[in-house]
Amino acid sequence: MPYCNQCGNKIEDNSKFCGNCGATMVNQPVQQTQQHYARSPQRIKHSGFGIAGLVLGIISVVMSSTLLLWFIGFILGILAIIFGAIAYWGKPRDKYGLAGFICGLVAVIVAMVWFIISARRFF
Ligand SMILES: [Zn+2]
Repeated sequence: MPYCNQCGNKIEDNSKFCGNCGATMVNQPVQQTQQHYARSPQRIKHSGFGIAGLVLGIISVVMSSTLLLWFIGFILGILAIIFGAIAYWGKPRDKYGLAGFICGLVAVIVAMVWFIISARRFF
């Protein structure tokens, strides 16, 4: 005899609704829920490269947005691009990698703008 998914009430074999709470009886709802939960942790997992890329990317953006530290931001930005690319285009696709990649790219562009500005000032 099946049981209600909502309230746990016993249900007649041929009944399509729960007599206690009125929930509709769908075949194998418990199995679907288990599959959903089994799949989700793999997606959430982040690789070391992805986290490193994201952290480096954020730091590099902050660094390159200041005039004095743009060179450090430039180097960290390149590292963030490399780590981010490894994480995002690697086998377990990590979205942190893409975020790090974009942050690194922004940092490198900002650092290059600083370089052009300071180069024009001195020459
Ligand atoms: Zn019920």
